[in-house]
Amino acid sequence: MAIPNMATIRAYRRPAYRMILRPAEMPLDRTVTKFGGLPYLLQHERWPVCRGCQRPMTFMFQTHLRDLPGGVRMGRYDFLTFYYCLDCAPRSSLEQKGFHLELRRTSPQDELQPAHFAFRREELTEPRECAVVFRPFDDLPTGEMLASFLGTDEGAYDSYMKYLEQVRGGSIFASKIGGYPSWVDAEPTMRCQCGLAMKFFAQISSEEQANLLWGAGGVLYLFHCPHACNPNALSFVIQSE
Ligand SMILES: [Zn+2]
Ligand SMILES: [Zn+2]
Repeated sequence: MAIPNMATIRAYRRPAYRMILRPAEMPLDRTVTKFGGLPYLLQHERWPVCRGCQRPMTFMFQTHLRDLPGGVRMGRYDFLTFYYCLDCAPRSSLEQKGFHLELRRTSPQDELQPAHFAFRREELTEPRECAVVFRPFDDLPTGEMLASFLGTDEGAYDSYMKYLEQVRGGSIFASKIGGYPSWVDAEPTMRCQCGLAMKFFAQISSEEQANLLWGAGGVLYLFHCPHACNPNALSFVIQSE
């Protein structure tokens, strides 16, 4: 079935970057966007410890914003790091424990920790080190947001969602930075401590080939303060069916 009002819907295009994970054969550079492996951590910095269980957390991923071709701005910062406690496994940053989310500003002069500093928890399913290939595309909102253009015909809604699936490379939950989120569950409202509503930054699906599991296989959503008002002005939610 044809999708009504496609020209109007196209006006909602937003730049986005699909994230394709490639398991690394060799350890990747510490300054690149990646999952697992050794993070960017300065010589004088400590490995983040969980506030809930006091154990070292797992480095999950980091993003160097320069790796995003059109650029995503976060104030004076150029780098985002995420550590997570796989034991406490919080479902949201509102739980205030079990994660460390940080914006930073990198410099080529930075002295990094030597490689042997890293904490690995062999008994846990930590993510396998993966490089990330970014594919820029024009994202569109989900059908729920476009109800006034799609009308009440279920066929139109279904056709549109099939189309969106193709736009996102096969799944509306595909891992990506930018664009519009696809919620598994209800849309959360995330507020920064400065009072502003946080903006959607990325959705990251569980990826089995990377040993990356959010809860029992959910989707992680990341948000940032539009003013990047402080280095921890980030939040997350995990949703699963
Ligand atoms: Zn913990
Ligand atoms: Zn803020």
